[in-house]
Amino acid sequence: MVEEARLNPYEVAIEQFRKAADMLELDTSMRRILEKPRRELTVSVPVKMDDGSIEVFTGFRVQHNTARGPAKGGIRYSPNVTLDEVRALAMWMTWKCALVGLPFGGAKGGVICDPLNMSQTELENLTRRYTFEISIIIGPESDVPAPDMYTNAQTMAWIMDTYSMQRGYCVPAIVTGKPLDIGGSLGREKATGRGCMLMARELYRRLGKSLNGATVAVQGFGNVGSNAAMLLQDEGCKILAISDVAGGIYNSHGLDAYKAADHVARTGSVKDFPDSEPISQEELLELDCDILIPAAVENVITKQNAKKIRAKAIIEGANGPTTPEASTILFERGIIEVPDILANAGGVTVSYFEWVQDVQALLWSEKRVNEKLEEVLTESFGQVWELAHEKNVSLRTAAYLLAVSRVARAIKTRGVYP
Ligand code: NAD
Repeated sequence: MVEEARLNPYEVAIEQFRKAADMLELDTSMRRILEKPRRELTVSVPVKMDDGSIEVFTGFRVQHNTARGPAKGGIRYSPNVTLDEVRALAMWMTWKCALVGLPFGGAKGGVICDPLNMSQTELENLTRRYTFEISIIIGPESDVPAPDMYTNAQTMAWIMDTYSMQRGYCVPAIVTGKPLDIGGSLGREKATGRGCMLMARELYRRLGKSLNGATVAVQGFGNVGSNAAMLLQDEGCKILAISDVAGGIYNSHGLDAYKAADHVARTGSVKDFPDSEPISQEELLELDCDILIPAAVENVITKQNAKKIRAKAIIEGANGPTTPEASTILFERGIIEVPDILANAGGVTVSYFEWVQDVQALLWSEKRVNEKLEEVLTESFGQVWELAHEKNVSLRTAAYLLAVSRVARAIKTRGVYP
């Protein structure tokens, strides 16, 4: 088992894969293929800063597997991002796309930078040069980026513009999560949060309960966390606590997620939201509530705090928020985890719809997007739920068994080139 003190996300990802591979009795050759990323690129990104100096940032793009289709995965800007983190995230994308049946493989990108302390011009310069550097491996038919932590629709617009200018014509299908004006899809902005809500609703339906009145705590109030909170509030849930990188807030009578999102838009943080008291990240994670949604970073639920978690269910908005040891503890304690590769798959599912619309130059209505999303995720949840009960394993293990077996089957069917 990965020693928790190190918590290298790639080692965590490998451990999760090996557990599934053992249960599926995958042969050594297949394990060798699936444990390694297909391709990884490290680039130096020189950027003209506002003070006239030149900074050189390091960026990555990793394609884990492309047996089922073009690589797909977001780009993250963070001072802490590492190649191993990007490798893990790329592998998780492979499983996620396979689990929800999308014709995509998995990839991820990252740039080591401090986006909160950079101007828009610096971020634009960084994005354009990073795009240029990785343009040797990305493309609408080979590898399609999307937003992730500290990147958004504007970042995708810069990527799309840079790539299109190099080609000499408009290539909207090069990225997803774009603004609507340039080929984005209705429903994409909220899709990951909507997926979290749908998975919570589906879980409750299977448990014979309604979400109305359920209490919720959300860590991370960005794209995923804020939309999940607002949509769960629409379902009648009471949002007890939310947090962002600057800290958390709590109100036992419930916080209005919409007003909190407005507050964040105005002030940049959930801090000092009226009618709330401060709460630490640890307290939020250990809050007595029905549903906990970690929607920020990896490794926040570990063997250190897994015994103290009081939520009855965890919907993993973030990628990799729970370590394997913590997952085992939670399973033994009867706390149900809807794993990241299912719980946050709404984003990549609507990204796929966006890509399909771009490739076909067709526009879908928001109603159609949301209905198709619900169809895909509900069907996937049902498959995972049934397998978990058939084999008496956690939802995470069942999700891995389904996803890994599908990717292995694709590799086997295609054969190894040459
Ligand atoms: P975001 O940049 O929009 O928001 C991130 C939020 O987390 C912010 O509120 C930030 O302040 C907070 N945060 C950052 N570090 C934190 C920390 N150490 N403790 C507490 N809060 C912290 O990012 P996002 O797109 O919402 O992504 C959040 C997570 O969801 C990531 O794990 C990402 O990989 C995953 N995810 C995102 C998408 C998507 O469509 N955006 C899809 C699937 C999974």
